[in-house]
Amino acid sequence: MTSNLFYKDLHNTVKETVSDCVIYKNQCDKFEYNVDSTINESTLGEIPYIPWEFFKLSNNRFKQLLRGNAFHELEYWMESSSTTGDPSIIGRLTNDIEVLKSNYNDVFNSFSVKDQVHNLILFAPKMNVINKIRHNFYEKNAYLLYKSIVDIWEDKHISYLLQFFFGKTIRNILTTFKLRAFIGINGKKLKSELIRVEKNNIPTIMANSSIWMHKILKDYYKKEKKTFDMSDNLHIITGGGGWDGIKGRVKLDYEIEKPEFIEQMCSMFNITNDKFCDNFAATESPMACGGHWSDKYNDFLHHVNNIQGRIIVRDVDTLEPIKNVGESGILELITPYGVESYAGVAVLLDDIVQVENWKRCPECNREGAVFRVIDRLTPSIGKGCSSLFTTDPVKL
Ligand SMILES: [Zn+2]
Repeated sequence: MTSNLFYKDLHNTVKETVSDCVIYKNQCDKFEYNVDSTINESTLGEIPYIPWEFFKLSNNRFKQLLRGNAFHELEYWMESSSTTGDPSIIGRLTNDIEVLKSNYNDVFNSFSVKDQVHNLILFAPKMNVINKIRHNFYEKNAYLLYKSIVDIWEDKHISYLLQFFFGKTIRNILTTFKLRAFIGINGKKLKSELIRVEKNNIPTIMANSSIWMHKILKDYYKKEKKTFDMSDNLHIITGGGGWDGIKGRVKLDYEIEKPEFIEQMCSMFNITNDKFCDNFAATESPMACGGHWSDKYNDFLHHVNNIQGRIIVRDVDTLEPIKNVGESGILELITPYGVESYAGVAVLLDDIVQVENWKRCPECNREGAVFRVIDRLTPSIGKGCSSLFTTDPVKL
């Protein structure tokens, strides 16, 4: 696809969103933006954006962020695994969900080996548990984004490690008189699966949040004092942040240093750091930015796929676009694709990033901007002791 076609599609999507979403039109008026103006690389930063907090539940604008008649066709809302206790709520129709899934799929194949590997260890619960974790807004259920993309992994042999703890739930009801389900890691399953993979040399992907992997495998190692030799067989895919020790309803008392995580996994499984893929994505946008580990930066380098979209980095104080490399600012994701049902064409997030190269990756040579995630604007406040998920030491 040529850049010209991308900018033409972007122009049309901005124009159409202005015509069928009042909130986006108001943003356009506020920015005094002329919808007929030409969009190219140098004018990209002028496009009106929706600040991330507009999607927040507490803001109660998520319904108005839907375009045209999307609300009537909507089957369910997508909810972010909120780090603040105030999730983002996004409405997506089938076409938009398909674009999002295809973007994630590209990352898992380009930066990892998704289609070549058939065994998966997922630090996530089965669908019947996910289906129980739901809210309801305007008479439509809201589920974690994960529900919509889990079928990316269909056809694989999957070990779901997160499960519902019946005993703990009952004890809690008896002692607190509160109905709260506890979900945690099945240590026995983890142990038997790791042994099976090592013994039979089964190519395997271990995936989901870094926070689970870090904590659970640390506990596992403490108990078993056992490492594994999976040198060519194990690939690790992380995503959704959580490096500050908080991810949705799960909270640790400490930050996970990314280099420490890499080192821990490498020594526990005897793998090299080229086996890692970190997917940077936000529930508010369909874009997915694949990342590989970089020894030079001692960090993940994330890549913008120009076929999916573009990014802008804005100065924290002035919100003006930053053009230089090596200066950090707030990340904005821009895409004309996968945003037919809601005003997601340009979303300003709360992530602070630093672009290391605007044109291509100096290490893997992929085309498109390359950035590192430095910080967040909003301090993450986990749900602490009201946590639904338990990170108690793994029972084997
Ligand atoms: Zn690269």
